[in-house]
Amino acid sequence: MTDCLFCKIVAGEIPSTKVFEDEVSYAFRDINPQAPVHVLIVPKEHIASCAELTEANEALVGKIFTNIAKIAKAEGLDKGFRVISNSGDDAGQTVHHLHYHILGGKSMGEGLVP
Ligand code: AMP
Ligand code: ZN
Repeated sequence: MTDCLFCKIVAGEIPSTKVFEDEVSYAFRDINPQAPVHVLIVPKEHIASCAELTEANEALVGKIFTNIAKIAKAEGLDKGFRVISNSGDDAGQTVHHLHYHILGGKSMGEGLVP
């Protein structure tokens, strides 16, 4: 997609701090971190949100979650971490390219929604 922030980050047209990359996904540090570790992982192909996923994306999503485990380990999140994917307006999604937030490095308690 031509006018998508995260497509531009994947293409290297907008700078980012890379954390991990493989053939299908790219992970980088969130520009406005909400925790000591705040990494975003996105598919390289443009998918708008979780709501757009189909069976055709199952291998991709599986790979992304395996990569999340690798990233959490590399970031030293042995005490735990949280994975969040905002999908659509009610969830407050601001960038309409599927992404998973990986948050950790502090105790976040049990509540899911502030
Ligand atoms: P969401 O609200 O779930 O759509 O999350 C979008 C996330 O993208 C927010 O946490 C932003 O801080 C982050 N973000 C926006 N622009 C950039 C950027 N240029 N580089 C890294 N992260 C960004
Ligand atoms: Zn995109």
